[in-house]
Amino acid sequence: MKKFALPAVLLLTPLLASCGASPAADDAATAGPPPGLGGEVHWSYDGAEGPAEWGHLSTDFEACSTGNAQSPIDLPAHADQKAAEQPTITSSPTVGESVDTGHTVQLVPESGASAVEWDGTEFTLAQTHFHVPSEHTVEGEATAAEFHLVHTAADGHTLVIGVLAEEGAENAAWQPFVEGAATPGTTDLPLDVAAMLPEDPTYEAYEGSLTTPPCTEGVQWVVYTTPVELSADQIAVLDKASHGHNARPTLPQAGRTPYEGTLALGE
Ligand SMILES: [Zn+2]
Repeated sequence: MKKFALPAVLLLTPLLASCGASPAADDAATAGPPPGLGGEVHWSYDGAEGPAEWGHLSTDFEACSTGNAQSPIDLPAHADQKAAEQPTITSSPTVGESVDTGHTVQLVPESGASAVEWDGTEFTLAQTHFHVPSEHTVEGEATAAEFHLVHTAADGHTLVIGVLAEEGAENAAWQPFVEGAATPGTTDLPLDVAAMLPEDPTYEAYEGSLTTPPCTEGVQWVVYTTPVELSADQIAVLDKASHGHNARPTLPQAGRTPYEGTLALGE
């Protein structure tokens, strides 16, 4: 009996979420927005439609101004509080398609790219995208860029792994992503999450929000404390693909205390 491969578009369709996730998030706008979910509301990173105004652009975006657990935040170099459990991440090399959302470029993988086991819930990778410069800062300092690996659970919750990037050596593991950012619509881009993560598994975690409208809260953030290196050329490509710049400024910690742990690579 013959085996039939599913067309890639069928595999990818449910995964077109934004910086966090719900189909309401704008990033779906240029990739085919579900109507009536705030997808048509225009927002940007500057001026009258910039971050300070997001909460007033649509009732769907109110959390952007009224929320009290928003992201990104400034992180300490080291968190005193330690994680009670050690979560794990598993991954296997796969391929994906690059999609320009109008605010960033996503790499939307086929299934199985990575899965995080966190507090008894499994989160699987929906898409990876980038911000220039970084959204999270460490001791007040931004890095050149930040990648977000947006994982979602069957119950609708979102966990985002943040990977900071600084200028240094060329990074082969992130090169297919960079190529996809330069040429949205590219398919079959190789993706090996294990190779894309920093070698040092130390992270800082806290509960926050999507960093783009609708700024939905209840998002588990896991930000690696050691940046990966990208070459100046790779950063220049992301900078060009960012539509100017695409980082939301940091918001108040508001009583949240980031804690430290390690995200071990499992089999
Ligand atoms: Zn993001």
